[in-house]
Amino acid sequence: MNRLQEKVAVITGGGSGIGAATAALFVQEGARVVVVGRNEEKLRKTVQAINHENVSYTVADVSQVEDTQRYLREAVKRHGGLDILVSNAGIQGEFAPVSDISVEAFDSVMAINVRGTWLAVKYAFPELQKRGGGSIILTSSAGGLGGMQVSSPYVASKHAVVGIARASAIDGAPHRIRVNAVCPGPVDNDMMTNVERMLGAGNEAAIRAAVAGRVPLKRFASNEEVARMNLFLASEESSYCTGGAYTVDGGWSSSLP
Ligand code: NAD
Repeated sequence: MNRLQEKVAVITGGGSGIGAATAALFVQEGARVVVVGRNEEKLRKTVQAINHENVSYTVADVSQVEDTQRYLREAVKRHGGLDILVSNAGIQGEFAPVSDISVEAFDSVMAINVRGTWLAVKYAFPELQKRGGGSIILTSSAGGLGGMQVSSPYVASKHAVVGIARASAIDGAPHRIRVNAVCPGPVDNDMMTNVERMLGAGNEAAIRAAVAGRVPLKRFASNEEVARMNLFLASEESSYCTGGAYTVDGGWSSSLP
C-alpha cells in the first residue's frame, strides 16, 4: 500500500479497460490521478466507480497538440506538478490484409497510437523535469514486438510506441525520467470484444477461443493484471528499469513464429 503516496499521475485512455483499472490501482496506492479520454461519459463512470477525492478527469483528444498541452496543464494546476504519465489511449483500427487497408485508416491509427503517445511524452517531459524526475509508461502491445496478421497499421504503431520508449529513456536518463513500454497480449475488455465482433461476424465465441488458444496460458489477461505492471513501473520498485518493453501476455510473444 501507499507505493505512490504524494505522486501525481495522468492516465490517458482512462475511461475504460486497462486505463480505468490503472487509475483505480494508482488511487488505492495513494496517487492523485487525472484520467484523460475523448468520451466524457466513460470518464465520469471511471471517476464514479473509484469514488475517491484523488481522482478527476479531463476530456481531450490525445492526437491533438492543444489538447495534450491542456490536459497536462490542468493536471499540474490541480495538483501542483506531475510525476507519472501513463500514455495508454489507443485504437485497433481496421482488420484486413495490408493491400486492403485504406490510407485513412492507417493515418487514424498513427495519429492516436503514435502521434498521441509522442505528444504526451514530449509535453510531459518538462513537467517531470521540474519535479526532479518521474516515470512514463507507454501502452504498446505484444503486437509491438512481433507480427500479427491483418493488423499492419496497429502492429506498426505499437512497434513505434516501443521505439518512443527506448529513445525517450535515453533522453530522460540525465533528468531521472524513466520511460518504459508495456506490451499486453489479449486483454478481456471492450477492445477485445470489438476485435471479436469485427473478425467473428456472428461467430465471436470461436474467435475468442482461437485467440485464447494461441496464448500459452490459454486465457486472456484481466485489466488489473496489466495495471499491476503499470504500478510496478510507476513506483520506485522499478528504479533501475528504463527503456524496457515489458510483456504481460501469458507467453504470447514467446510463442510467435
Ligand atoms: P479500450 O478500448 O477500453 O481503451 C482505450 C481507451 O482509449 C478508450 O477509453 C478510448 O476512449 C481511448 N481513446 C481512444 N482514442 C483516443 C483519443 N484520440 N484521445 C483520447 N482517448 C482516446 O481498450 P484497452 O485494452 O484498455 O486499451 C488500452 C491500451 O491497451 C491501448 O493502447 C491498446 O492498444 C492497448 N492494448 C490492448 C489490448 C487488448 O487486448 N485489449 C492488447 C494489447 C494492447
